[in-house]
Amino acid sequence: MNTPPEFWRTKTLAQMTPEEWESLCDGCGKCCLHKIAQPQGPALKTCVACHLLDSKSCRCKNYARRSEIVRNCVVITPENIESLTWLPNTCAYRLLAAGDDLPAWHPLISNDPESVHQAGISVRGRCISERNAGRLEDYVIP
Ligand code: SF4
Ligand code: SF4
Repeated sequence: MNTPPEFWRTKTLAQMTPEEWESLCDGCGKCCLHKIAQPQGPALKTCVACHLLDSKSCRCKNYARRSEIVRNCVVITPENIESLTWLPNTCAYRLLAAGDDLPAWHPLISNDPESVHQAGISVRGRCISERNAGRLEDYVIP
């Protein structure tokens, strides 16, 4: 199925095809970093990544089976996006759900999958696998 240009400006999230929906992900990898829940206030962010995250590509190594392999992997949908307040404010799903446009570095705008890394948005070179990390508390980031 052909994807019309700039579909994200003309369709709601719920109207998108699966292909369009998937293309919204900029590949930043930020949603695959562990967070530490706080009794009060927002969760603390860490630079510790899920063991399935490829730290170079910032993509999941088994995306098709992610929620099967990683129990707490959250699959983002048009139905739950509003409740996922822990997603980074750069996340395309969050931006579009809030009525905002995609930023210039988004691969759909730049036509370059590397632009998210070049703009310093992704976790490339800035995360450690949970397999190599110790206490999450030692890896809290701003
Ligand atoms: S935070 Fe959003 S844009 Fe970034 S990898 Fe996760 S789903 Fe994709
Ligand atoms: S399993 Fe989920 S949290 Fe882990 S890398 Fe894949 S998409 Fe990210």
